[in-house]
Amino acid sequence: MNKIKNKYILIPAITAVLSLVFLIIVNSTFKESKNKQYTDFLKDTSRSSISTVYVTTSPKIQVKLKDGTIYTTDNPRTDNFKENLLKDGINVSEQTLTNPAEIASIAGFVISLIVLGIMFFKSTKIKSKGMFSATNLDVTAVEDIGFNFANVAGNEEAKDSVQDVVDFLKNPEKYSAYGARMPKGVILYGDPGTGKTLLAKAVAGEANVPFYAVSGSDFVQIYVGVGAGRIRSLFKKARSHGRAVIFIDEIDAIGKKRDNGRGGGSDEKDQTLNALLTEMSGFNETEGIIVIAATNRLDMLDEALLRPGRFDRHIEVTLPDVSAREKILKLHFKNKPIKNIDYSEWARKTTSFSGAKLENLANEAAIIACKDNAVFISNQYLDKAFSIMLAGYEKVDRDYIKEEDRKITAFHEAGHALISLKMLPNDKVSKVTIIPTTKGAGGYTLSIPEDTLYQNKEHLKKKIMVLLGGRAAEEIIFGASNVTTGAYNDLQRSTQIIANMITEYGMGESLGLLTMGKLRESGFTNQEAVFSECKKMISDLYEEVKDILIDGKDSLNAITTLLIDKETIYHEDLIHIIGVKNNNGVA
Ligand code: ADP
Ligand code: ZN
Repeated sequence: MNKIKNKYILIPAITAVLSLVFLIIVNSTFKESKNKQYTDFLKDTSRSSISTVYVTTSPKIQVKLKDGTIYTTDNPRTDNFKENLLKDGINVSEQTLTNPAEIASIAGFVISLIVLGIMFFKSTKIKSKGMFSATNLDVTAVEDIGFNFANVAGNEEAKDSVQDVVDFLKNPEKYSAYGARMPKGVILYGDPGTGKTLLAKAVAGEANVPFYAVSGSDFVQIYVGVGAGRIRSLFKKARSHGRAVIFIDEIDAIGKKRDNGRGGGSDEKDQTLNALLTEMSGFNETEGIIVIAATNRLDMLDEALLRPGRFDRHIEVTLPDVSAREKILKLHFKNKPIKNIDYSEWARKTTSFSGAKLENLANEAAIIACKDNAVFISNQYLDKAFSIMLAGYEKVDRDYIKEEDRKITAFHEAGHALISLKMLPNDKVSKVTIIPTTKGAGGYTLSIPEDTLYQNKEHLKKKIMVLLGGRAAEEIIFGASNVTTGAYNDLQRSTQIIANMITEYGMGESLGLLTMGKLRESGFTNQEAVFSECKKMISDLYEEVKDILIDGKDSLNAITTLLIDKETIYHEDLIHIIGVKNNNGVA
């Protein structure tokens, strides 16, 4: 884009020079136009063949005859010169006579200069982040991007989830013939470097349609309306192609939750977001355009984006587990000269590495081997690359590689999972993992709660018990003095539930059906009783949880062992361990 612009800049530059040259020529020929004696001029006057005389303060005056000829002669500078001419019926102008050719060349020069100025201004603006141009957002479609699902290792669920999108892009008419509505938008969410961009490219590649990639941050401008304009031009471009994948990275930059009123520049963001939503509802199902957006955090997005007919399919792209890491490593070493690399060992060592980090590891190892002039990339080079990468990372990142930490996390998560299975058998524990999240958790246990409108007191207590399961497991296995900070978030959440139960939901003794909020408004200050009731409730529940875990220590150990081995385990694995009798037949 910039290069083309630079070429165009030559056009006004050339016209400017040409008009300048022309001006000089015209001027000189004009200036050197005939000069007549004053006596000849007087003769012309008496012959009344003069049309106009141009009188200025300069030593020469210009004379235009009725036949069009122009000449100059001396300015007599007499007081009544003008009056005499007028009396003879000759026009007198007090300006110099200008040649139309001269005016034209001056105009040409000025216009070229203005155009040149605008172009120069614009091109520098484009360079400095393209501030002004609504239509000049530099998106060109990449056709035949040469990516397909083979380039994405692991992430099988995510690949499955976009398979029908690929189908649809290949053959949109087929879907519309069935009356099926394909999602217009797909959101890929998950930690950075997990392959969201890669997956979007693979969708375009598999379907063999052009791929338009932009980033949400490209749309955030200081000038209201620019972002919206860019959205419209992006969609126009894509639609002119027929089928296409539009990829918007960092969608949160335009689609972040609106925080009621506050926050500068939100007006601009709203406009951009609205433009996006309008464009998305503008194309119909048969057009074969899919918008794929990526974000690290789904919960940060504005609900308007997630509604049906917009980005209604949400696909998590997770950090790779041990077997996916092995596949990713293999993929990135595929075209490199390697020798004796133990992929499964490297997969185990690289807990919490994203696909991008693994790619980086493979690349570092190759660079080091190359510097060494080694024939092959061997384990030794991977070792070096690994240390370099770890040393470069923050302290947190280094810690969790430690075997001991993995063990603590595994027991902690196993504690949550086991209590959940025992106390809330109707909630499905879908996933337990000891792969740390970038949000700081050492691991997590994900359960799909039973669908209920209300939660009764008993149920809330059980939820608290599940939250306490992590800390309780730590205490039972490692002793009361070795418990960790890992339960921080669990404790915050359980405290919140207990406080709500006793002070807001009317489920406690000390306040009965009174609510704390209203009491405080009325000046109530004594909170001693409430405080001790909360404390007693959590202590009782905690003891109960510990008893359950001690009872089920075999299961706790079995879950932990499997977690350490596999890092991520699922519902089926848990059922397998604790036995079918604890599963009340909920799928
Ligand atoms: P994201 O968009 O989620 O931040 P990217 O798709 O940009 O991540 O991934 C960056 C790079 O990491 C990719 O170009 C690729 O080399 C590597 N990578 C990430 N995930 C995978 C994966 N599942 N399989 C193979 N390579 C991956
Ligand atoms: Zn926990």
